[in-house]
Amino acid sequence: MEKKIRVRFAPSPTGGLHLGGVRTALYNFLFAKQHGGDFILRIEDTDQSRYVPGAEEYINESLKWCGLEPDESPLKGGPLGPYRQSERKSIYREYADQLVKSGKAYYAFDSPEELETMRSKYRTADNPSPQYDRRTREHMRNTLSLTFEETERLMAGNTAHVIRIKMPDKEIVYLQDMIRGEVIFDTSLLDDKVLLKADGMPTYHLAVVVDDYLMKITHAFRGEEWLPSAPVHVLLWRYLFGEDLMPEWAHFPLILKPDGNGKLSKRDSARLGIPIFAMDWKDPATGQTITGFRESGFLPQAFVNMLAVLGWNDGTEQELYSLDDLVDKFSIDRVHKAGARFNYEKAKWFNHEWIKRFSTHALVPFVKKVFEENNLRVANDASLIPVISLIRDRCSLLGDFYIQGKFFFTAPQQWDLNAIRSKWNGQKADFFKEYIEILDKIPEWNAASLESAFKAIAAEKNIKAGELQLPLRIMLVGEKSGPPVFEIAAILGSAETIKRIRSLINSGSLQ
Ligand code: GLU
Repeated sequence: MEKKIRVRFAPSPTGGLHLGGVRTALYNFLFAKQHGGDFILRIEDTDQSRYVPGAEEYINESLKWCGLEPDESPLKGGPLGPYRQSERKSIYREYADQLVKSGKAYYAFDSPEELETMRSKYRTADNPSPQYDRRTREHMRNTLSLTFEETERLMAGNTAHVIRIKMPDKEIVYLQDMIRGEVIFDTSLLDDKVLLKADGMPTYHLAVVVDDYLMKITHAFRGEEWLPSAPVHVLLWRYLFGEDLMPEWAHFPLILKPDGNGKLSKRDSARLGIPIFAMDWKDPATGQTITGFRESGFLPQAFVNMLAVLGWNDGTEQELYSLDDLVDKFSIDRVHKAGARFNYEKAKWFNHEWIKRFSTHALVPFVKKVFEENNLRVANDASLIPVISLIRDRCSLLGDFYIQGKFFFTAPQQWDLNAIRSKWNGQKADFFKEYIEILDKIPEWNAASLESAFKAIAAEKNIKAGELQLPLRIMLVGEKSGPPVFEIAAILGSAETIKRIRSLINSGSLQ
């Protein structure tokens, strides 16, 4: 029987979920679903100093918003939990000890000050930033440099210590990456990473390997920023479980800044005024909020679609995909090697397309929420239906529904009179007075009959109807732009339309 595909998304709860992180979750999810496999959420919280309260809840909510619900997770549980590494602390020590016993790792007793001294003391022209490695380890306090008796004494005295991997001297480590092909690492350039910390917590390197093994992960997919750590993981697999059992690897390309070089970062969000997190993230330490796609007015379907094609395509011109389409079409080997440049305008285009794809009814809850966030209460959902149908094609972000549609629910507080004042005259005022008389009695209240009555009176009075349409728009909307004006009046209804025309004529502001 074929092994069941199991993948994991393994974020550290250190803050909001960057769109690169969501894309990693998405690609993992797609791969799992397409193979009838399991998508696991594992919270990698072994670095307590970087732990940020609220971050885990934020991750859960973001995945939910995107429709990427895990099959196993800290919240949901599952057969191979716990799924939060801090709750697995007791598991890791035996693996670290096993590595020490087999000579692949060693105890190190150095204090932070001693590490600092090493960095300055061994700095040379050809080793400008010395690391704890084959060149320096013999000068440090560890089981490789100390005598057996000294080590025993330190251990007996409960001296704080870490366990470090002993990086082989000059070895080539091969990694087969599903996107990049064979990647080669020279161990002589790598340092002796800490595997178990003084507080007994594993570091990420040990925990990720042990947990991928215990959770029967078949494919380990993550961002390219983890590629430099990969040789440490391959060696740990070799030493602990055998490379045969190792998951297959893929490292996803970085998401690059819209301008310039480098990875899209939190700073770009503020600098360019664009979202980079799935949802708003308020940093509990600084109180600063970094904008999310959800709060910027994106439909989750559009966000997911945009992310999917940021680094992948199916070889055709197709750009719009639902999550189900993606489950069908996605393939890891079509993920690009090169970084993908983020383009916010394109992201908005996806949202616009998805607004068009949604049924009017399906948009109602989103639009209602936007209105409510702007303190505009909509008495009944049905009243939103004609408004949404009329303005949906003009909206790229959900917030545009408020901008484009607020005047349907609240009369303009001010009018752009400058747009019409210069051409205004008593004859036009008379026209509107007459128009409201007619409107009061019009048999059928719809855009076509409103328009034909309008044109008939204009013809009678010998005024160009085109010249009267802008004033009508200003009366109803307050501004120059918006959907076709008779459609607006049709939705506003007779009482409100008449009231708005009358209130401007009577205000005296056009005299
Ligand atoms: N904990 C790592 C992170 O925060 C996960 C890397 C991996 O998937 O191996 O992204």
